[in-house]
Amino acid sequence: MLGTGILKGMVETAKNFAGSYHDPERLTTVEYPEQRIAPKENARQFPMLIHDTEDPMKGLRCVACQICEKECPPQCIYIVKSKDKRADYKGQMQFYPATFDIDISVCMSCQICVEVCPFESIKMDTEFELSNTDRFGGLLIHKEQLAKSNEHYRKIHPADAAASDAVLAAEVAKAQAKAKADAEAKAAKAAAEAKAKADAAVAGTVPAPATSTAPQPTSPPAAPAA
Ligand code: SF4
Ligand code: SF4
Repeated sequence: MLGTGILKGMVETAKNFAGSYHDPERLTTVEYPEQRIAPKENARQFPMLIHDTEDPMKGLRCVACQICEKECPPQCIYIVKSKDKRADYKGQMQFYPATFDIDISVCMSCQICVEVCPFESIKMDTEFELSNTDRFGGLLIHKEQLAKSNEHYRKIHPADAAASDAVLAAEVAKAQAKAKADAEAKAAKAAAEAKAKADAAVAGTVPAPATSTAPQPTSPPAAPAA
């Protein structure tokens, strides 16, 4: 019947309204800020930068590739790449962000920066209490404030963090396998070169077949006269 869905919805609302006076389960709101609801796992507010070590600035995964800066629709990410390099989580030397700012007065929480990052470096945080009396400088969030530990990420988005950890573990395993294969190939090459040198040295010490230096007659000597 036409309008049944609307009627069902209104009945549910009426049940919640009346029930909320005696059944806490039917209360859909809380008295914020005294009471808080834990954020849902798929909630997202603004980006954060993940770090893996105790020192947030040394352990940032970000390698300042600037892909997120280019792809951010409202262009609210500002990155300055470092001049030097440091080892990343795979032990490879990489650049890092000397500056990484996000203007959250412009960010629209679209998560595109997260989708395009090839290094599992930038993720969405659930922190929302970021109001500030300075609407310009106060809403420009620097890397020191953006840095959050992988533990924090695991806590707020456990499924996504587990998938991210698996990607990084696979990359580390791949890098280690490549390094091992390279080392084995180098060792094999060095052994082959050493063997070739040894063979050449042995060949140089073996005496060559004896050859006479006396001039060889071009014709048989004449028979003595009778
Ligand atoms: S969430 Fe969207 S708008 Fe915000 S920094 Fe990332 S790409 Fe830009
Ligand atoms: S957050 Fe990711 S995409 Fe953005 S600069 Fe860092 S590594 Fe590149």
